[in-house]
Amino acid sequence: MKYTGKINWIVTLTVTVINLSFLVAAWYGYSHFGEPGTFLGFQCLTWGLFLFMYFIGGLGITLGYHRYFTHSGFKTSRWFQFVLMFLGSMSLQGNLEEWVNNHRHHHRDSDKDGDPHSPRHGFLHGHMLWFLYEYEWPEEKKMVNDIMKDPMIRNQMPVSVIAAVSGLAVPYLIAGWEGFLLAGVCRIGWVQHVTWLVNSWGHTWGRRPWPTGEDSTNTHLIGLLALGEGYHNNHHYDDRACIHGWNWYDLDTTKWVIYGLEKLGIIWDLQMPKHWRKDRKETVGA
Ligand SMILES: [Zn+2]
Ligand SMILES: [Zn+2]
Repeated sequence: MKYTGKINWIVTLTVTVINLSFLVAAWYGYSHFGEPGTFLGFQCLTWGLFLFMYFIGGLGITLGYHRYFTHSGFKTSRWFQFVLMFLGSMSLQGNLEEWVNNHRHHHRDSDKDGDPHSPRHGFLHGHMLWFLYEYEWPEEKKMVNDIMKDPMIRNQMPVSVIAAVSGLAVPYLIAGWEGFLLAGVCRIGWVQHVTWLVNSWGHTWGRRPWPTGEDSTNTHLIGLLALGEGYHNNHHYDDRACIHGWNWYDLDTTKWVIYGLEKLGIIWDLQMPKHWRKDRKETVGA
């Protein structure tokens, strides 16, 4: 990975607009505060849509982009691969080629020079400043060679555009402009920040039960928000495992979806944690 020092203006402007939408939503909520049938100024229907789209768009990242496409944590059929790619594209986190490349670099060089988003260079750098710049990736081909053999992934762009547009159009058609604002634009920003928290908070504060040689942590709060990705120290210890929360009470929502999909026969050959045995020390350092 080579830092070029150039700003990626398309990403910077997109992220700026998405984050400004939080201010617009705060103003909208304030001006409709206390109206009947609303919560914080938005209709309950709109909040329901927000939660639903946060859930399916978030799963597109945790179950699809991360646990399936990056780490091959289970096997599935062609149609479900497409569903996962489509849902992941709804959260505007780039195409699989770049997402998987960034993330595999992160695992290989965690909190070292080749890590694109280590908070050792500053919490905000690890959270979101890192991707406002352009990088050269001499090893990208090698890193994503396996997934790029798939023509579906090589030709992701039109699917990404349709997924992103439908992620805005569907809430607009159901709940009007407030649906577009809260369940469309703000939901994209929310899922992005939650994902980035795994990189920033999840490498700064929390428990470190496993000696992984970098700064990754386990936290229930990020576990809850990021549908289970907050058990990040577990994940660095055993990155193939498709289960991240290794205690029954861990808030790994994606794990429960995985078990459900396996029961339905939609996914199979789950990679279970190698060390899911007596040498686990989850409570150490809690
Ligand atoms: Zn990490
Ligand atoms: Zn990972």
